[in-house]
Amino acid sequence: MSLTDLGEFGLIGRIRKRFPAPEGVTGIGDDCAVIPQRSGQDTLVSTDMLVEGTHFLRDRVSPFQLGWKSAAVNLSDIAAMGGQPTATFLSVALPPDLEADWMGEFLRGYAEISARFGAALLGGDTTASPDRICINVTVLGECPAGAARLRSAAQAGDLVCVTSTLGDSAAGLKAILEGVETDADIQALINRHYLPLPRVAEGLRLAATPGVHAMMDISDGIGSDLRHILEASGVGAVIDVPALPLSPALQRTCARLGWDAAALATGGGEDYELLFTCTPEAEKMLDVPHTVIGTVTERRSRIEPGMTDIEWRGAEGPVAGFDHFKRQSPV
Ligand code: ADP
Ligand code: MG
Repeated sequence: MSLTDLGEFGLIGRIRKRFPAPEGVTGIGDDCAVIPQRSGQDTLVSTDMLVEGTHFLRDRVSPFQLGWKSAAVNLSDIAAMGGQPTATFLSVALPPDLEADWMGEFLRGYAEISARFGAALLGGDTTASPDRICINVTVLGECPAGAARLRSAAQAGDLVCVTSTLGDSAAGLKAILEGVETDADIQALINRHYLPLPRVAEGLRLAATPGVHAMMDISDGIGSDLRHILEASGVGAVIDVPALPLSPALQRTCARLGWDAAALATGGGEDYELLFTCTPEAEKMLDVPHTVIGTVTERRSRIEPGMTDIEWRGAEGPVAGFDHFKRQSPV
């Protein structure tokens, strides 16, 4: 059955059935969702768009994986602030000839990860698209008033840390695009690309630790994402490239296929690990698995505006196309 046969309201009816609103909340079915406010909490809001051909290829990703990932990348933004996700809104533009089963699988992936992290789907919009699928998810979360961890909070003398291994997702994507024959390692890397796990519990614990300063999630690779923290905080950093945590699957795959692990770990995106800075004292107290990868430094005065001050120590070559002081791209 195609979406033309099911109709807009048939599809919304199915979504509504699959996502009942939690007790005390008005969800799908009215003009607005109604969410009671909790006093003493800040509301966190973020939104992300996924466009077929730009962010995914319909014949390379299963609808289950795409549903999972659409929610995951948004939940990760709440994790990056140190918040608890509460609700999502899902807007879709779909070609009318799309199979209703495709959307069913998409919703199954979306539901599975949403349930796992306690986020209720409370509304959205459904419309037709001439040929490409577009997906927009808005996520709401909460954190104690004033406790959100901002990119601008890094301080000279902080350690730079990440919650887990880097480069797996980029290696998984490379394997998919190059059609590399699948073994257990390749499958593990591909799963990290298609089924990322937002670090929500880790973000909450980090935000509750005094001395944890700036935080963000890694969606574009640390080579690019770390700059956002440094720019926002007006500081520089020294990164110890040999200290970057690499999974055994990535190390074995890079050794076998001659891929550059450091380039994948710094330049490749979509790891959805948390990148954060904290005082050395706080680092000793952390109850979240993490790796120290460098130090925040004072910004060197000779750095021109628009240039980022990162020294990649121990790199065998230029790191993923990033020089020490690469000018930031205009976009
Ligand atoms: P309106 O015309 O008032 O915008 P719609 O007919 O677009 O209402 O939507 C009806 C209800 O279904 C609303 O509560 C809306 O939030 C919800 N809804 C529509 N599309 C989706 C979707 N893709 N996912 C979740 N909820 C949806
Ligand atoms: Mg509408």
